[in-house]
Amino acid sequence: MWNFSFVLPSLLILFILIAFYLSLPRLSVRKNRVFVWIILAESTTIVFDILSSYVDNDPAAYPMIMVQFFNVGYFAAFYIRSFLFYYFTLSLLSPEHALRPGIKALSKLPVGLMLLCTLLTPMTGWIYSIGPEGYHSGPLYNLTYLQMSVYLLLSFGTIVLFHRPLKKRERFAVILFNLLLLAGMIFRYVFPHFLLMDTFCLMAILIIYLEFENPEFYLELRGEVFNGKAFRDYIEENTGRLSGRVLGVVIHNYPDMRDIYGSHQMDVGMHMIARYLVSSFPHQTVFYYRKGRFILLGEKNMDCGEMSRRITERFQKTWKSDEAELYLKSAYLTMELGGELSEADDILSTLILAFKKADITASSVPVAVTADEVLQTRLQHTVRRALEKAIEQDQVEVFLQPLMEADSGKLIAAEALARIRDEKGEIIPPGLFISVAERSGRIHELGEQVFEKTCRFLKTADLSSLGIRWINVNLSPVQFMRSDLADCLEKILRIHGLEPALIHLEITEESMIDDSFLQKQMQSVREKGFQLVLDDYGTGYSNLTRLKICPFTNVKLDMSLVWDYCANPDDILPTMIKAFKHMNFTITSEGIENEQMADMMRRIGSDYLQGYHYSKPLSMEDFMEKYAKPAAPGGGSLQ
Ligand code: C2E
Ligand code: MG
Ligand code: MG
Repeated sequence: MWNFSFVLPSLLILFILIAFYLSLPRLSVRKNRVFVWIILAESTTIVFDILSSYVDNDPAAYPMIMVQFFNVGYFAAFYIRSFLFYYFTLSLLSPEHALRPGIKALSKLPVGLMLLCTLLTPMTGWIYSIGPEGYHSGPLYNLTYLQMSVYLLLSFGTIVLFHRPLKKRERFAVILFNLLLLAGMIFRYVFPHFLLMDTFCLMAILIIYLEFENPEFYLELRGEVFNGKAFRDYIEENTGRLSGRVLGVVIHNYPDMRDIYGSHQMDVGMHMIARYLVSSFPHQTVFYYRKGRFILLGEKNMDCGEMSRRITERFQKTWKSDEAELYLKSAYLTMELGGELSEADDILSTLILAFKKADITASSVPVAVTADEVLQTRLQHTVRRALEKAIEQDQVEVFLQPLMEADSGKLIAAEALARIRDEKGEIIPPGLFISVAERSGRIHELGEQVFEKTCRFLKTADLSSLGIRWINVNLSPVQFMRSDLADCLEKILRIHGLEPALIHLEITEESMIDDSFLQKQMQSVREKGFQLVLDDYGTGYSNLTRLKICPFTNVKLDMSLVWDYCANPDDILPTMIKAFKHMNFTITSEGIENEQMADMMRRIGSDYLQGYHYSKPLSMEDFMEKYAKPAAPGGGSLQ
């Protein structure tokens, strides 16, 4: 009555897949664990399917207890398998945080109920019954299809709601294997005697294996250790629950060693080291994080000192095989996970920094990663994230700080200062993000946004009611390296229909390297009609002779210089100011925090004053609110 032509080969193919899967190291993450359960459930279902179908052909020929056992076993494994396929979909899409515990518990209800029915069936005959004339479906038999349909529906619902963490191809694979399960269920319904469902489940398993579960996705160095992706996924999955310790092992001077020995020999060497670490430290999970960096993850009480001593001892010998003989040196770091350190990004960036530190130290004693370093990396992360977001979404804000005319005490200009915000909306000061933007090259876009928003302000604000004649915009020396800087600024200015005289560009003294390109750039910016300001004078090393040939119109004394003078007045600063005046520079004093400082700087010839005494940098709206006066009759914009 039952046809075994599909189910027997399916079982054999499944065995091959299981043998391959289990022969390689597997990372202990949820989806891998669920997959092991799936292949167990599939093998059990197939075996019981074959056995129960076989005895059901002629139940009277076998002891009743055996017939019941095979049938109960088959149905139980079948229901569990349906649930596990759904659970795998769930583990891929990681909606753990989105699913409320109540809903999660509810999703186990169908499998629970069906298992209960199955266990009671030998007494009640609910799902099937074995009568004198053989096997019969019971009154609740069709619940088998209902249970599977519920899980398929839940799977498709989950895919629709939580597909975001998946790449396009992965999404396609999840849909495909669930469709195959659906097809299997339909075939089972239409051709119950062909035992086809197991073959469809096997196809679904093959898709899962090929797209998600091939253990090699997580392996490095000829399958010996886990790779960086495995480390990241492990940490990510266990975020908030991590506890343990990491011992980092780094090959000292790895890039140089690679140059010396060549990449093939080095790869062989890394493979040997990986094998040594795995066999010597069986209680730790070993990862290879590229560029000669190994990570050993273990329990909190792991003795890193002893381990590093042992490894160092091994490194005193060469790493020798038929293909290579290497003499390498190792260095170490330790890091405690959990508490402050539980986010994957924090851990990885702290680790990379610590690996560099360990490499420089090159000692057999592990470098300990301190809480301070963790905070530092976290801050850097927050800043980098906020910067990317602000630049991408045009959210760099421009604050304005007034510049007062020293003689009249009136507002005459303002300095545009960039601001970005963290996820909580708190302001991140430029001291933290400008250097990051310079290093990543994003400073050009940031500078452009500040310049553009300043132009928009100049265009829309009633400047005469404010009394503003120009706005100072800061330029980073990195921006000066772009040969099209002047054209780019002019273009934005032209879009807004503004005169270049409305913008003064500040460049810090620190960046005044003796560079003819910089000179040329300054000239071309000046030729476009912008005025140039030397910012933070007193922090760099520029000498007056060099400044003479630079096309500045204004020198801003750095606040350290101003504070120094106001605390201990002497002749140096007044003499310097005289010299600047002689060279036709006007002078701005930064960091004026009280009236007395304002008086002192005014007396020695400062033309403009800037500082908290007048105002901290304000958002454009606050600036308008504070300084806009009702416009004089007939007054208009200054442009
Ligand atoms: P800076 O150009 O020298 O700007 C003056 C800095 O001094 C501002 O800090 C301002 O808030 C602060 N300041 C002004 N008056 C006082 C005072 O009386 N007391 C004290 N203690 N501080 C005062 P901020 O806004 O944090 O900016 C820091 C630096 O970041 C700026 O120094 C500038 O070099 C840079 N920066 C700001 N915005 C931009 C930008 O859009 N592009 C570039 N490249 N750099 C920028
Ligand atoms: Mg400035
Ligand atoms: Mg300054």
